[in-house]
Amino acid sequence: MRSLDIFTLLFVSAFVCIGQSIVMFSLHKSFNAEVRGVNYWAWAQLAMLLSIVLLAFRGIVSEAIIVPAYNDALLTSTGLSVLGTEKFLDRRPSWRLIFTVLVAASIGLMWWLVMTPHFSYRVGVYSVAAIFLYLRLIHVVWRHGERNFATYFLVSLMLLLAATTLIRGAAALTLGDESVSLLNSTPLATGYLAVNAILVQLLGVVFVAMVARRVHVILDNRTKQDPLTGVLNRRGCEDYYRRLQLHDRHADSPLTAVAVDIDFFKSINDRHGHAAGDTVLVHVASHLRQQLREMDQVIRLGGEEFLALLPGTNLDEAKKIAARIQSTLVDTFYEIPSCTLSMGIAERTMSTESLESILERADAALYQAKLNGRDRIECAA
Ligand code: GH3
Ligand code: MG
Ligand code: MG
Repeated sequence: MRSLDIFTLLFVSAFVCIGQSIVMFSLHKSFNAEVRGVNYWAWAQLAMLLSIVLLAFRGIVSEAIIVPAYNDALLTSTGLSVLGTEKFLDRRPSWRLIFTVLVAASIGLMWWLVMTPHFSYRVGVYSVAAIFLYLRLIHVVWRHGERNFATYFLVSLMLLLAATTLIRGAAALTLGDESVSLLNSTPLATGYLAVNAILVQLLGVVFVAMVARRVHVILDNRTKQDPLTGVLNRRGCEDYYRRLQLHDRHADSPLTAVAVDIDFFKSINDRHGHAAGDTVLVHVASHLRQQLREMDQVIRLGGEEFLALLPGTNLDEAKKIAARIQSTLVDTFYEIPSCTLSMGIAERTMSTESLESILERADAALYQAKLNGRDRIECAA
């Protein structure tokens, strides 16, 4: 096998870093509100780029500048990856911890470079700091991340990075010479650099994959949500019911559907305008949400028609809940036109009953409530 050309590898790595940081910065710009931490990952790529550029200057610029700067840039890159991952997973970024590690490592590196030059100790300091950051990243991802391919891949990468760093650190301490110095082109140094460069590039790829996955979930959720009221739409409702039927471990437990329709909504629109009508819709949706449990679902079926799906609730309980929704609604109107609700309730007859069938019966009951004078509740037979 021909020997690996380390210069070419670093040259390519530099461009991959630039490319990945551009991708990450643009992802950050597009999904800033929903996906956090991506800008940290982008800066981590730029810090990595800086370390590669510094390495390219070895032999040209004084070692006393290159060595600590190179190591600091590398550790900063890993530190930023940790902070970005914490933000991505909605954790508080551990700025103080990362900063302490970086400062302590810098002091150690400078000490054993300038005060009492000792190559092996320098590698030791770098290795301990780097391995600490790798393990920190593993800890954060394993504890708070989803169990999916990206997580397993990320953890494997970090373990490999920690292992190669450990091997090089051990080699430096036992061999005690500069055969592992990255400033020399020995096989050990070149091999370490090559493996590291490839693993770090893969790390960037995993981060982008994690963002892509998150963005997919966000966009998918948007298609299941009503943009005006923020509750589920009909598509989201069908999806929820399908999942409920697939995963319901208590198939025998009851489920009740409450069809809700605002009375004389057209006249609210006519009298107060469409925008006021919209405000009423938002108000009613949030009232339904407030009156129900976390596990209940509120759906806007269309226009001024809503549906509440109440798992684990039978017809009698649902009637009480519906009455409470109706009676408490009156007190919630302050500066918006008030309205009343008609409701039709249907309990699922068996766990295999289709959503359409339940809705049909709830709708029939709702129709009856309208016929009987509105602002009332009727139950399906
Ligand atoms: P009923 O008591 O029989 O239910 O009478 P209604 O006026 O509430 O029912 P109808 O079906 O006659 O009218 C519903 C109105 O809801 C008509 C439509 O213009 C209005 N509407 C549908 N979607 C929206 C919306 O997103 N925003 C607003 N402001 N109005 C809407
Ligand atoms: Mg209506
Ligand atoms: Mg209607």
